Amino acid sequence: MEPFIRSDQYNFIKAQTKILINGHSTVNDRDVLNALKSLAIEKVVNLFSDISEEQMQLLNPIMKVEDKENAQEFLLKLKPYVIPFKEITDKTIKKLFPKAKKLKVPSLEDIDLKETSYLGWTDKGSNKKYIIANFDNKLIGLQGTIKSTSQTGICALCNAHEETAMFISRTKGSRKDTFTKRGNYICQDSQKCNQNIITLDKLNDFILRLNG
Ligand SMILES: [Zn+2]
Repeated sequence: MEPFIRSDQYNFIKAQTKILINGHSTVNDRDVLNALKSLAIEKVVNLFSDISEEQMQLLNPIMKVEDKENAQEFLLKLKPYVIPFKEITDKTIKKLFPKAKKLKVPSLEDIDLKETSYLGWTDKGSNKKYIIANFDNKLIGLQGTIKSTSQTGICALCNAHEETAMFISRTKGSRKDTFTKRGNYICQDSQKCNQNIITLDKLNDFILRLNG
């Protein structure tokens, strides 16, 4: 079976296991628990169009998740079927950010590409933040200046309440050769942000807004 689960979908499934663990630790009513289980599998299956029998068999055991150990075991079995983020080379970077001279591939050693919906890193010297995301099966590069805010707020990429920074980028204005500056609050920690992403809606909106 080929990998078929996107990172955001994996996070969504993980969130469903948390709901089940929580349910089992607080509810005793069998009917309520059964309803929770049905809802979990329904939501998970709905993530995928054209689900195969084999894929179904992989996902079905979510109904048996009752505690942390079950959840870990279940999620571990899913991991081989999570689609990793594309490997990024210097050539890709040059193509995506032609104006940023000497920009290097970020260090990916600590990053699990299977837990990555977008790559985000800050170039400390210039205070620029670079974002690479997959949009419509194409890699898109976004760059902006990052301004620390030491505030918490809702992140424009993951929709979670986190420590945010202001990402200021230039987008094309309505008239030719004009530009508008836009600011968006995004997570300071891109890895944490990626863990929070349970749908690509916000990330895709962000790309459309900045790239459109
Ligand atoms: Zn975020």
